[in-house]
Amino acid sequence: RIVSGEALDANDEFGQLSLRPQFLNQYIGQTKIKDEIAVYIQAAKQREESLDHVLLYGPPGLGKTTLATVIANELQVNIKTTTGPAIEKPGDLVAILNELEPGDVLFIDEIHRLPKNVEEILYSAMEDFYIDIIVGQDTTAHPVHFPLPPFTLIGATTRAGMLSAPLRARFGILGHMSYYTETELTAIVKRSAEVFDTQIDDQGAHEIARRSRGTPRIANRLLKRVRDFSQVSQKEMIDKEIVDYALKLLRVDEKGLDDNDRKLLRTMILLYNGGPVGLSTIAANIGEETDTIEDVIEPYLLQIGFIKRTPRGRVVTDAAYQHLGLVRTDK
Ligand code: ADP
Repeated sequence: RIVSGEALDANDEFGQLSLRPQFLNQYIGQTKIKDEIAVYIQAAKQREESLDHVLLYGPPGLGKTTLATVIANELQVNIKTTTGPAIEKPGDLVAILNELEPGDVLFIDEIHRLPKNVEEILYSAMEDFYIDIIVGQDTTAHPVHFPLPPFTLIGATTRAGMLSAPLRARFGILGHMSYYTETELTAIVKRSAEVFDTQIDDQGAHEIARRSRGTPRIANRLLKRVRDFSQVSQKEMIDKEIVDYALKLLRVDEKGLDDNDRKLLRTMILLYNGGPVGLSTIAANIGEETDTIEDVIEPYLLQIGFIKRTPRGRVVTDAAYQHLGLVRTDK
């Protein structure tokens, strides 16, 4: 079997096990959302209606895109995929909506980055399945009422708070994606190893899971790298020893933190005595965008209790000092 992570990631047209789960029963974790959505899907199918619009929010790599595809597969409809920034003007959105068949899913990733004038067209499209657009220019300009087939919009965003209130209100189903447990991630690592045709033992899979920051995308990435080390050292089976060895070289520590995480914590500690320090100050010091810090780096550090948010800024906790082997000097 020819196995290429990238190709398999995107499609399953050869009927092979794909890295991305295709149906709800292959989708590991996120039980609350999954159970809820299973009911809504069944009800929509029984009524032969389109599924209500779904907003999925949570940090990157937790499976929002994957879940959107799974929902479309379960509904047995087509899915069209795009992103907020890719839709630059109202005409782009009209072209996309025009191609939808009744019941189809339209997936818009980074939906909080839709331009305002595009977003406004989406309101009536979502609510009553029509759009009103102005055709022609100057004296020939006139409104055209354009009916649409019923469709399901699935929007994904890293933070629900970044969406405008009117847009958020038009989603009937809200799905908050949470970090995965070690048990769930272990199952994902084992499943991915199977897709890669790679042997991994329980301790090896658990060790990768434990250091993946609760995130399937990271778990899969670490598995790919560990597999390379394992192959080159001619091991038949990935075990804890090779995982430890590879992750050490990849500079992923015991808690799964990487250079970026440690840089942020060390900067806060060494330059600001552990805080409170504002987001933009941190960003300037470590040379990252504030968005990247808020969406990618910070959520996991908050989750494991290494930083806290206070009204006066972020502070580093004792647990983080301990983890980095640093001593608090402000107490
Ligand atoms: P997001 O859209 O939230 O950034 P993705 O849907 O792209 O995340 O998921 C990243 C990767 O993690 C996917 O390639 C998929 O293989 C894997 N993945 C995500 N969620 C799951 C899950 N519940 N079970 C198994 N694999 C998953």
